[in-house]
Amino acid sequence: MPSSEHMNDAVISIGSNIEKESNLPEAIRLIRRNRYIEVRKVSRFFESKSVGGPPDAPEFFNAAVQVRTVLDPAEVRTALRHIESVLGRERTEDPDAPRTIDLDLTYYRGVVGDFDGWSLPDALALTAPHVAIPIADIVPDWQHEVTGQTAREIATQFGQSGESVQPVQSVVLGRPYRSRSSEDWNDKREVYAPRFEALVRQQLLEMGEDPEREGLLRTPLRVAKAMDYLTSGYATSLDEIVNGAVFDAEGAEEMILIKEVEFFSLCEHHLLPFFGSATVAYLPKGRIIGLSKVARILDLYARRLQVQERMVNQVADAMERTLQPHGVAVVVKGKHLCMMMRGVQKQDGSMLTSAMRGTFREDPRTRAEFLNLAG
Ligand code: ZN
Repeated sequence: MPSSEHMNDAVISIGSNIEKESNLPEAIRLIRRNRYIEVRKVSRFFESKSVGGPPDAPEFFNAAVQVRTVLDPAEVRTALRHIESVLGRERTEDPDAPRTIDLDLTYYRGVVGDFDGWSLPDALALTAPHVAIPIADIVPDWQHEVTGQTAREIATQFGQSGESVQPVQSVVLGRPYRSRSSEDWNDKREVYAPRFEALVRQQLLEMGEDPEREGLLRTPLRVAKAMDYLTSGYATSLDEIVNGAVFDAEGAEEMILIKEVEFFSLCEHHLLPFFGSATVAYLPKGRIIGLSKVARILDLYARRLQVQERMVNQVADAMERTLQPHGVAVVVKGKHLCMMMRGVQKQDGSMLTSAMRGTFREDPRTRAEFLNLAG
């Protein structure tokens, strides 16, 4: 769990020289999917000669990512080690050994120090062009907390030796579902989630389709992005959503009801959509929340693989945890395509589930009032 509610700015440096064309974008995608790390900016990919290794060692790809996080530096490092192991990194004694992926916390604003075998800022931020140059690409004006130099000044001081680190022209990193950047884009070279896309391509083959035909060529990419969006609840936390939107409201004791908020989710049994609306009510005990946040809390749990019964309870739990009210009630109406499309049940596939907490559970009059208002 994060040790602080405060968001801290940091830079993560990435390197790979094994299957680097897929490992680098995949690492960035996995960083994005950590619910406690928010990716702000990704550098271009740079190619650099392997330093210190055998002369025929494959060249490295390097990049840097600016993030905001509630994690402390040690927790960020643990999260990065986890991503490394997902991508098949085996740590060896040899610091120059080829690696599928190398993720390092280089800067963490406001923290300077030597820890057990690592330091902040990372020493390589000053001494290694393949680390310094990608950093200057995203945060040129950040000052090194010890020397006071900006990232741009550090990168340019490498002069000739910096020329062995060059932007990769052939790879364009895929825009995630969140980004709205409008830069010039070459679709054919777009790299987003190579491992995920390979699985979708395999799935098309298993279905007897031809992944090379015109209409399906970009389908693996589109599916990867769509699934990341539809499961983006995993990459968000309740704290991040609620942050700052709970207000003290002395004397507010009347039931607050938000009616029929739309949601779209995926059933975890068939990966098919279910969708509908949720009505959420609570009896405040001095604390209220902005209305739009209730919709975002619903999305937090809808945008993942779900069953409706669990979702309704998760929303109720989140409201309870956030507001500590006298009571919470949630009713969800959902239509399940896995029922409607497969003809298992010939009804219209709709389902009603509810969760009642506190006064809504204990007091029949409060419950009746809610059910009356919820219609
Ligand atoms: Zn289902």
